[in-house]
Amino acid sequence: MDLIGIIPTGKVWGIILRDLLLDVKTAFEKAEKEVYLDILTERPYPLPRLAFDVNLGKYRVEGFFLKALDIKTEVERVHHISIQKVLVLTDVDICDPPHMDGFGYADMTHLFAIVSIYRLQRGATKLVFRERLVKESLHELGHTYGLDHCSKSSCPMSLSASVMEIDAKTTEFCPRCKAMLSDSGYGEYWGV
Ligand SMILES: [Zn+2]
Ligand SMILES: [Zn+2]
Repeated sequence: MDLIGIIPTGKVWGIILRDLLLDVKTAFEKAEKEVYLDILTERPYPLPRLAFDVNLGKYRVEGFFLKALDIKTEVERVHHISIQKVLVLTDVDICDPPHMDGFGYADMTHLFAIVSIYRLQRGATKLVFRERLVKESLHELGHTYGLDHCSKSSCPMSLSASVMEIDAKTTEFCPRCKAMLSDSGYGEYWGV
């Protein structure tokens, strides 16, 4: 069973996280992929200052992933465990030039994913926000399992350029993506 370590940075805490852990686990189980999720830090980690790009006015994802690698390595050392995937959650606007307006990103090399709630909260009720966050988290985690973008607009692996497109998705992977997930290897994808 894979352990997915969650690292909250900035103002992301409380009920948001509890719901997300539950929703992501449930969605993976429906795809017959058993995962265990845990929060790797006792409290949200301070935003990595070096990640902020003054010229862009946004945070670059590399800075988060570098910090996440440190945290993952330390938790693995102290607790003698192995963490297969890491999902960073933050509340600031993130980018990975040339991709400037993503809701989240994934780094296949280190199996890290990041999702920002910054844009997901727009015009959302609590329930809509909860669903958007789980869909985007599934999308980015899906990339860390080697899944690419899906042409089915209801599948969490379809590419969303707007919150409307996220709202049109479900939290259930389509049959093709389910099959790829249960293969569970990882590919070479790096994307938004
Ligand atoms: Zn799909
Ligand atoms: Zn994507």
